[in-house]
Amino acid sequence: MTIDLSALVANYRLLAERSRPAKAAAVVKADAYGLGIEPVSRALWAAGCRHFFVAMPQEGLTLRSVLPEAHIFVFNGLFGTEAASAYREARLIPVLNSQSDISIWEAHGWDGEQPRPCAIHVDTGMNRLGLTAERAKALAEDNALTGALSPLLVLSHLACTDQPDHAMNRRQLESFQALRALFPQSESSLANSGGIFLGGDFLCDLTRCGIALYGGRPVSGKPNPMRPVVTAEARVAQVRRIAAGEAVSYGATEVTRDTIIAVCSVGYADGYPRSASGAGVPLRQAPGAHSGAAGFIHGRRVPVLGRITMDLTLFDVTDLGPDAVAVGDHIELFGPNMPIDEVAEAAGTISYELLTSLGRRYHRDYVGGEV
Ligand SMILES: *Cc1c(COP(=O)(O)O)cnc(C)c1O
Repeated sequence: MTIDLSALVANYRLLAERSRPAKAAAVVKADAYGLGIEPVSRALWAAGCRHFFVAMPQEGLTLRSVLPEAHIFVFNGLFGTEAASAYREARLIPVLNSQSDISIWEAHGWDGEQPRPCAIHVDTGMNRLGLTAERAKALAEDNALTGALSPLLVLSHLACTDQPDHAMNRRQLESFQALRALFPQSESSLANSGGIFLGGDFLCDLTRCGIALYGGRPVSGKPNPMRPVVTAEARVAQVRRIAAGEAVSYGATEVTRDTIIAVCSVGYADGYPRSASGAGVPLRQAPGAHSGAAGFIHGRRVPVLGRITMDLTLFDVTDLGPDAVAVGDHIELFGPNMPIDEVAEAAGTISYELLTSLGRRYHRDYVGGEV
């Protein structure tokens, strides 16, 4: 696997440009979407990024050891009372999502010190995390009296930014504008990668860039303006020639022509999903289902043949000619020649899931920047 830090930085610059006048934060949860939180965060910091979001406290602690000066927000809130002092010591800013988060942050880990920095998450219709409108109003009133919390940021999350024309986007924006007004001292944040491309009022003070940084398509059905960051490749372990009527892999899918197979050292244990199999997978036998993923080798696309297994995947390389593929060659699974969103679609999923499922057996090369 090759991770191109210069492409990552180019993507950050493009998103920061599109975010203006808002600042652009980087979302580096789940080990920076599987790419490696340390090298990714260092490269983004060097490119001028100062605000970072993670999901879990442990990710925040890791990031703090990498970037002593960054503003680090933790999406999933406080994890019980013991976590509060760890947050304070590491200067992690919890995103308060519920009354329980608020009560903990008001009462624990702070020896009478005031006020406590935090972000407030208000729900605007996604019904995942976040305070209801009533809770947000009550909090704003209470806090105006006690001043216990110092909400640096009010945020909400959009449910449909990959579909710019979806009516939900504007409804959520209007709801957010009403709620963020309850906290006039705080900055505001609404847009994820797709939200940045909605532009205008969606940008607020701070955008939260995730998938687009890593090369994923921020908006469905449009050309992807981002540069690919990850190239995943597998080695050809064996080349076989079989006759029409013979079968391949688990489930014994029959081939209908004389076929040259490149057997490659990658499988679902590496996050190359079984649902991207070429044929014979019940998941995709429904009419109109996708036909499986393809790889890219020696200038051509070649389809996955039969079922993807734990450690091995078969590609049909017949169309390249008799001696085109040799043991030791590399096939691109996704990268500049094989867009990650296409592979994800073939597997019935999204680029986010492909990236965060990448297995530990890949050798990782970071290029285009210091690690
Ligand atoms: C993951 C996440 C993001 C980043 O979203 P992308 O679509 O990857 O840009 C932003 N905000 C919240 C609350 C998230 O959970």
